[in-house]
Amino acid sequence: GSILVIGSGAREHAIAWRLKKEGKDVFLSPGNGGTSLSWINKILSKDDIESFCRVTGVDLIVVGPEKPLTEGIADFLRSKGFWVFGPGKEGAKLEGSKVFAKSFMKRNNLPTADFVIYEDEGSLIKHFDNCKYPVVIKADGLAAGKGVVVVHEKEEAVEAINFLKNNFPEASKYIIVEECLVGKELSLFVLINDKDHVVLDNARDYKRLNDFDEGPNTGGMGSYSPVDDLPEFQINKIQNNIVEPTIRALRKENISYQGVLYFGIMLTKEGPSILEFNCRFGDPEAQVLVPRILNFSELLYAVAKNERIPEPKISNKKALSVVLAAKGYPNNPEVGKMINIDGKIFEDEDVAIFYAGVTRDKNNLFTSSGRVLNVVGMGNTFEEARNKAYNSIKYINFEGMHFRRDIGL
Ligand code: ATP
Repeated sequence: GSILVIGSGAREHAIAWRLKKEGKDVFLSPGNGGTSLSWINKILSKDDIESFCRVTGVDLIVVGPEKPLTEGIADFLRSKGFWVFGPGKEGAKLEGSKVFAKSFMKRNNLPTADFVIYEDEGSLIKHFDNCKYPVVIKADGLAAGKGVVVVHEKEEAVEAINFLKNNFPEASKYIIVEECLVGKELSLFVLINDKDHVVLDNARDYKRLNDFDEGPNTGGMGSYSPVDDLPEFQINKIQNNIVEPTIRALRKENISYQGVLYFGIMLTKEGPSILEFNCRFGDPEAQVLVPRILNFSELLYAVAKNERIPEPKISNKKALSVVLAAKGYPNNPEVGKMINIDGKIFEDEDVAIFYAGVTRDKNNLFTSSGRVLNVVGMGNTFEEARNKAYNSIKYINFEGMHFRRDIGL
């Protein structure tokens, strides 16, 4: 059958791109102007999906972003008889509520930073009178990547709390204060269904806007996969102290999960610790992970059908992605700029463009939001992957284009 991919970002483009390589017919909803060059894009409301899928012969629906997952779209589509890649509302709470996730980790003895949950603002503020700094403040709910602040003194804490309460009142009903961990970060992706699980691979992303991790936090400015600096002791501990116990905990608590579980991990001196769970592929991590998974469609179907999940076939190639962003991103991105792309970029099999904030007018593409597109390079070494990505950027331009020059360095 055909496959419907729900979402509009570069992550969803990477998913569609890989599925096309495997000979699958793909539709996107809504997709973006860039993906509409290669696939049929349809803006489908939740209630339109069923009839669209019946008419077009879609049997598998892949839900890319967290928002529809936390709202329960996977349960709804499963109830209509489709195979769905993505957890239902309960499983998605592992991302949708940090209170739920941290409590889940605590009662199952999963390694994670010590924390306190507050509802009452008075007690919350008091916490900062004599706590150990720096300390991390987190909103409970989804906050588009802006819900976490590291603070170094009380005044900064009060400011952060006001920011969260004003900008994300719903998500900030509960606030978590947590110990600040130190180390390198790692994103690990595990496919899970109610019968089986397999570890896919890992990746690392770059959150800050500018080179050398300066400037504000963003949705992600680049990524690479796999992570090549992982000591053996951390690998074993991730498997034995994090992945296996998390799966056992899901089973024990009868939490159904059919999709990818993204473990955000801090590699501390004492061992790996879980920073967060996400209930979907990362963006921009998917752009470097998904193209390397050679039996991707087989894996997605097995997860969605609750069957035994085959061993992932992962390419030996390294992948590296650079995000091209609009001027003013993340606070005030300029949009509506024409994007020029020299067709030469498509001549190299090991280079791919994944579009995100792009609209289309006839055959012209224009910027429409902050993260415009990703350029991905693949190669036998990181150096090769890196050179492919950076050398290809010269074929692309739009006014105000901004990107980091230090991805993978
Ligand atoms: P995302 O957009 O990645 O889903 P989020 O808003 O859900 O992010 P987290 O991933 O929990 O928030 O945290 C964002 C970042 O904040 C982490 O990637 C990490 O860099 C930092 N962070 C979170 N918790 C801690 C901690 N306990 N100690 C140190 N840094 C932390």
